[in-house]
Amino acid sequence: METIQNYIGGVLKNARAGAVLDVFNPATGEVYATVPDSKKEDIEEAVSAAKKAYPSWSATTVEERHDYLMKISRAIEDELEELALAESIDNGKPLWLAKMVDIPRAASNMRFFATAIMQFASEAHEMNEQAINYTLRRPLGPVACISPWNLPLYLFTWKIAPALAAGNTVVAKPSEVTPMTAYLLSKIVIKSGLPAGVLNIVHGQGTDTGRVLSAHKDIKAISFTGSTKVGADIAMKAAPLFKKYSLEMGGKNPNIIFADCDYDKMLQTTLRSSFSNQGQICLCGSKIFVENIIYEKFKRDFIKKTKELKVGNPLDAATKIGAIVSKDHFDKIMSYIDLAKEEGGEVLSGGNSVRPTGNENGWFIDPTIIEGLANNCRTNREEIFGPVVTLIPFETEGEVLNMANNNEYGLAATIWTENLSRAHRLSNKIEAGIIWVNTWLLRDLRTPFGGMKNSGVGREGGFEALRFFTEPKNVCIAY
Ligand code: NAD
Repeated sequence: METIQNYIGGVLKNARAGAVLDVFNPATGEVYATVPDSKKEDIEEAVSAAKKAYPSWSATTVEERHDYLMKISRAIEDELEELALAESIDNGKPLWLAKMVDIPRAASNMRFFATAIMQFASEAHEMNEQAINYTLRRPLGPVACISPWNLPLYLFTWKIAPALAAGNTVVAKPSEVTPMTAYLLSKIVIKSGLPAGVLNIVHGQGTDTGRVLSAHKDIKAISFTGSTKVGADIAMKAAPLFKKYSLEMGGKNPNIIFADCDYDKMLQTTLRSSFSNQGQICLCGSKIFVENIIYEKFKRDFIKKTKELKVGNPLDAATKIGAIVSKDHFDKIMSYIDLAKEEGGEVLSGGNSVRPTGNENGWFIDPTIIEGLANNCRTNREEIFGPVVTLIPFETEGEVLNMANNNEYGLAATIWTENLSRAHRLSNKIEAGIIWVNTWLLRDLRTPFGGMKNSGVGREGGFEALRFFTEPKNVCIAY
């Protein structure tokens, strides 16, 4: 049994007596570690360490901060194998996916913001003969970074890196469901020599640790990724205290397929955008709109390809669909499949839990395709966040645009068409923060990342993140 510790003021600390939570391996259903269920006192300690470290960290040069982040990035790369294995065991995702995506991306998050801060310049606005304005950008102080379980180290570092690069000190809380790689990161950070208190990692439940942290009076900003419900809770607490917040929340993303698309590329990519990471990516296209004239062909081909996806042990190289992250989440997904049936949906593929040989007690679900549901039923409105997609036929561009926008969420959308004008027209009109045309999940870390409507407030990525983690101050000097 492994014991995960908090990282506070530069040292690893055990949980207070009795205050631990079980950590499960979702592929076996067994507890394999414990994690601190941090209390108010732990948060106080972490925030006070971050406060103490702030004056000297905020006074470091951008070159110094660059060097620390690069060192951490290289150490993540050096420990790729160990981190990927830990991520796969903790989350249930296929090991090859953690090796190919999660851990390399965690390293590149660090590297990206190490170099971005070197290019982050302040603006100047000249008023002809009268004056010059320039804008100073100062770090905020101790900030909180709160992340979810679906891409544990990837999303954790996506927040920590810009916060540190901009000169803030950080108290970070990973998901209590998948805390292992954040713990391993603490060890990497210790080895990197980052000064004590600059980064603190506290573990624990959202409703307790997360709440206390985000409402703490000395925390100046909260960068949150997770569900819309929790985002609303954080905003309610942060607003009266005038904290800055950035909220990356849920999605119900349309994947719109026109008959004139590059069919083979679309089919391969749609398989990925539907079921990668067991459908537990906020950007997955869970509502698939297909133009009538290719609907039956697409349905046939998509079912065939989906049935070929191997569900099973995440450590097996042939596995395409690993385990669902927790028993609670497994139950939630299964309840949505039941709801879809009650609402009149027909399950075309999957729809069942699976008990792979050797992993009979894990939480596995067959990738599921459902058709025959109205666009506005609950199954098609609410975020399921699992390997479940629905198919909806459409006749015209106007009709599919209305259906895509009839959505409380606005995170991402994918459009498949070779018609250039249509691609531009729809990209302009679809209410989502991220649009992919003829691709999916192609990411340039310089671009604004985030959603509109119930999917988010603010943007991460590139200079957007560095702007969030700094306070602008205008200086106007008369000539
Ligand atoms: P969650 O909202 O339950 O938890 C996210 C984090 O917030 C966890 O660390 C949790 O402990 C903490 N938390 C929970 N309650 C809290 C509270 N009241 N105050 C402060 N912190 C609290 O989300 P989850 O189940 O871990 O993750 C799945 C959700 O994340 C999905 O809705 C998914 O769409 C979303 N997500 C969004 C993005 C994005 O970029 N928009 C990316 C990944 C995941």
